[in-house]
Amino acid sequence: MKELLDSVVEEFRDIWRNGRVATYIPELARACPDAVGLAVCDLGSGLYTAGDWNYPFTMQSVSKIVSLALALTVCGEDAVFSSVGMDPLADPFNSIMRLEMDAPHRPHNPLINSGAIVVLSLLPWTESSERVTAVSDLAARMAGKPSVSMNSAVYISEKETSDRNRALAWFLKSVGNLHGDIEDILDAYFRQCSLETNCADLAVMGATLAADGRNPITEEQVLTPRVARVVRTIMATCGMYDGSGEFAVSAGIPAKSGVGGGIAAAVPGMMGIGTCGPALDSRGNSVAGLAMMKKLSEVLNLRIY
Ligand code: GLU
Repeated sequence: MKELLDSVVEEFRDIWRNGRVATYIPELARACPDAVGLAVCDLGSGLYTAGDWNYPFTMQSVSKIVSLALALTVCGEDAVFSSVGMDPLADPFNSIMRLEMDAPHRPHNPLINSGAIVVLSLLPWTESSERVTAVSDLAARMAGKPSVSMNSAVYISEKETSDRNRALAWFLKSVGNLHGDIEDILDAYFRQCSLETNCADLAVMGATLAADGRNPITEEQVLTPRVARVVRTIMATCGMYDGSGEFAVSAGIPAKSGVGGGIAAAVPGMMGIGTCGPALDSRGNSVAGLAMMKKLSEVLNLRIY
């Protein structure tokens, strides 16, 4: 496995040139565009890493699988899916258009920005710090680490340039679909997006989902099998932004990307995969990550469809 990962990283070392790091959150523009990391957490034989596997980046939208798992656990499936849908969207992750056009103005799924903001609002804590502590604790247990830290510079940068996310939240409030203190919920959202990770962590998180909620490294049952299954399903249908359908055809594995350059994938009963590559395509998916996921899926015959 280690040799395979090394050769995949080598093959796609330069593909980052086809993408660009995110700049709409200024602090993300400081990422190294040419970092390329790959990790696999095999449910039977453990963790394998290659390339810049310990390059740190922020989870961004990958954190949305954690907050979704938390809300499903704490609030239950009915409460979550009466507030957000479970359908893919062909628009960008921060688009407001469909939210306004489609009554009852409910976010289409929990993995786009509006959906993740609603999911956070459902959690039964009133302070942003309590919500984020619960999300980061769960992320740590899924990754098999004592704790997950937050990148303060990214958090501040994100908060200072958050007009679009604020617009989504205030629109949701205006139609009666977001309850609680908006500033507090948004603060929790910016903090959870700024949680720091690397592709090895993402591989273990993916493996926990792949193993029906049981972390294969710590052997802790972190999530119920049902919650793990629902999260995997939403990843498969909605996890790669408006490129989810194309990714389902080309790689065929449940995955979630983030604009920090990470992708976490969960291959049921087999493995978790984490990739890192901060240069993104026009949809916000890591160029190197996409290429490496497709390659591994092909070579190891991972597709679930
Ligand atoms: N923090 C980012 C935002 O709100 C997350 C986007 C992403 O990774 O898709 O725009």
